[in-house]
Amino acid sequence: MPTASIADDITAYPANISSPAAARDGCSGLSPYLTFGVLSVREVYQYIHEHAPDCRGREWFTSRLVWNRHYNQKLADWPGWTDKAVNPVFRGWNAEQHDPALVEAWKQGQTGYPMVDASMRCLAATGWLNFRMRAMCASFFAHILAQPWRIGADWYHHHLLDSDAGINYTQWQSQAGLIGRPSLRLYNPRKQVRDNDPNGEFIRRWVPELRTLPTAFLDQPEKTPTAVQNECSIEIGDEYPYPVVDFETRRTAFWERYDRVSSVAAARLAEPATAKRASLSGGIEAANAIAARHGDDTDEQQPTQVQLDDLTNVLDGGTPHEDDVE
Ligand SMILES: Cc1cc2nc3c(=O)[nH]c(=O)nc-3n(C[C@H](O)[C@H](O)[C@H](O)COP(=O)(O)OP(=O)(O)OC[C@H]3O[C@@H](n4cnc5c(N)ncnc54)[C@H](O)[C@@H]3O)c2cc1C
Repeated sequence: MPTASIADDITAYPANISSPAAARDGCSGLSPYLTFGVLSVREVYQYIHEHAPDCRGREWFTSRLVWNRHYNQKLADWPGWTDKAVNPVFRGWNAEQHDPALVEAWKQGQTGYPMVDASMRCLAATGWLNFRMRAMCASFFAHILAQPWRIGADWYHHHLLDSDAGINYTQWQSQAGLIGRPSLRLYNPRKQVRDNDPNGEFIRRWVPELRTLPTAFLDQPEKTPTAVQNECSIEIGDEYPYPVVDFETRRTAFWERYDRVSSVAAARLAEPATAKRASLSGGIEAANAIAARHGDDTDEQQPTQVQLDDLTNVLDGGTPHEDDVE
């Protein structure tokens, strides 16, 4: 049974989950078995509690088993998760910016951002990615490429070996910021290279065009001096694309646009139907508290004022504008 190895290595689990290379063996790999009912969450929970030592890793692992049920419960509560933004304010978000060429670059792993490209190629070839790379590619698609979330969610659903509608679409809506919580994380794919693939093992495996590039340039190949490109026999812009969009420009544009609607979205979380379908872990009280603290349905053009409280972890985790930047 595959849980045997995760039970043996449970103490290393927290250190292994973020790196896409380490996660492949360092996480349990049980998701397809759970999705298709070969194993139940109850069986895995019981096995781990009987065979793994009581430690932080066991706690983290079992909390993720709980998330499996939590997200599936959300879909059972409201089937609209698979095709409608939870918060009505975000219905049609990014529709007017739909650009099939950008979507195609993302799907094929040709964006010019090596961590995104390696992840998307790995997904298509193996049907699996660790949580962080799934979240980063979803965030990049929805916020930086500014494309309609459902196209990306359907692509994952088609390619993931473990695709579970209850987790995939709820995670996509969450990463794309469609719930209207004040906390939203925007991943920086360059920082993810430095933090989670510092030796370039994952990128070199999935983006072989870059295998001769010195590690120092793997987070931003387009900045490689021409002399170095010549030495490595690679031409950026030819064998490997320039970035399809400028990250900083897109990030600023996203936050400006998001801030214009986020207080209205927070206010709408207090509507009983929206609060119920949002199904926050703190329940309807959490939705009401967010609306009371962050909501303003009177003026859509006012940017959200960041409060001191926002700088600490608030309801349901996270901080506003949680940019994953240096
Ligand atoms: C955009 C996006 C889409 C996702 N789509 C799916 C999906 O379709 N199917 C799926 O099973 N997981 C999905 N996940 C959650 C997570 O990435 C995978 O469960 C995990 O990577 C599977 O690998 P593992 O079994 O080795 O996980 P482990 O880390 O070993 O975790 C054990 C089990 O806990 C559950 N679990 C772990 N993380 C989560 C999470 N964040 N939410 C809910 N349950 C979790 C899974 O059942 C997993 O098998 C998605 C995450 C994101 C960000």
